[in-house]
Amino acid sequence: MSKFRQSQTAPALDKLPAKIMIIEASVSLAMLMRNRIETETGAHVVVCGNLSGARKALERERFTMALTGHRLPDAPDGEILDLLAEFEVPTVLFSGSVIDELQTNYARYRLVDYITKDNRNTVEIAVAAVAKVIANQTISVLVVDDAKAARNDLVDFLLRQNYKVVEAKTGHEALQRLAEDPSIAMVITDYYMPDMDGYELTKAIRATYSSERLRIIGVSASTDRRLSALFLKAGASDFLYRPFVPEELQCRVNNTVETLMQLKRLRHLAERDPLTGLFNRRAFFERADKQLARLNAAATGTGAIAILDIDHFKQINDNFGHDSGDIVLKQIASILHDHARQEDYLLARLGGEEFVLLFPDRTLQESQSLCEAILRGIRAADIMMGESSIRVTGSIGLSMLNQNEPLNNQLHAADQMLYLAKSAGRDQLCSDASFQ
Ligand code: GH3
Ligand code: MG
Ligand code: MG
Repeated sequence: MSKFRQSQTAPALDKLPAKIMIIEASVSLAMLMRNRIETETGAHVVVCGNLSGARKALERERFTMALTGHRLPDAPDGEILDLLAEFEVPTVLFSGSVIDELQTNYARYRLVDYITKDNRNTVEIAVAAVAKVIANQTISVLVVDDAKAARNDLVDFLLRQNYKVVEAKTGHEALQRLAEDPSIAMVITDYYMPDMDGYELTKAIRATYSSERLRIIGVSASTDRRLSALFLKAGASDFLYRPFVPEELQCRVNNTVETLMQLKRLRHLAERDPLTGLFNRRAFFERADKQLARLNAAATGTGAIAILDIDHFKQINDNFGHDSGDIVLKQIASILHDHARQEDYLLARLGGEEFVLLFPDRTLQESQSLCEAILRGIRAADIMMGESSIRVTGSIGLSMLNQNEPLNNQLHAADQMLYLAKSAGRDQLCSDASFQ
């Protein structure tokens, strides 16, 4: 068992910047790649010009991965790959031509990817390959297979690609792992398993997890050609027959993850207000409706909704310009965001200089103190605009949630309270509790 398998985590430490070794005899090419990788990924890059330099660096420190040429001045026959394998460093190789021998020794050399230098975009491709491996460390993959050797095979492959790996021996265990660990983004499952087969597992997963959030790849050593269609129809994103061709496995896993990341980016763009990064109105309505449905079902009757509006915001735009107005909005949003995270409630930018806050499961008293704390935070904040700073205030309208009332009506009630807070002189909270 290798060091990687024992730890179950990829070599990169999550919080620290990745450490990349580039082994390349051409100083100009090495420097070019170093600059690109450091600026694009934030990784720390160490450059070595030959095998002996690489050995010294490997003995000194641990690397997330290496990017190496095949021929080096003191090692013309790819000896560098043996050295990197000895130190268990996942490796991206760029070489003058495709080397047949490497395709069969892909795993032994801990190769993550190889890039041929015949392409004009070699540097781009190499940098993208490194960035991909660094990004992989944020993704968890669940491997489901009752056969240990087959499971280990996949786990080793995924760890080499810098993914985090979770294992399950049965379908039921897989469902349990998924329920425990929301960070799992992909499941790779075998077909034949004792308790439930991969097809049944895929169907069971799809009953709870959409393909937008969780991808499934089916695998099998079976010769039954119908398995592929079976898995795909049940909701798997892809299917592969064993034994794997390593590059095919790598491409399919990468494509699956790439699709997932694209969906995540799109979802993020659709849900966020571009200026402040907070949830937008639509995302708020979607989430708030779910929370209200839950509260109605539980019939607990607690919770409140608030609208916060920045006071005299138009004057800020008029006096300092629209860009300065944007700066104020961003800083207020950041104060609100920190508070919402800390106190765990739903926050969104409704539009303009208005924000909405939903406090489910809180009493009116608790909601009031949260709102008071927010107003104090805004009042006390020095909002920096270049060298100088200004202060602003906000007003809040707070309304208790009413059972089975549509969200729009609840929002309207809070808005009426906001109107009263403004009329009463601004920089204050007005709540419908005061009128009961
Ligand atoms: P009140 O205390 O009564 O809330 O007065 P106010 O000036 O804050 O309110 P009013 O509704 O009169 O003005 C809000 C202004 O916010 C008008 C609009 O131009 C400005 N605004 C809306 N969205 C943005 C934005 O994204 N950026 C900037 N800079 N200004 C915005
Ligand atoms: Mg307003
Ligand atoms: Mg305002």
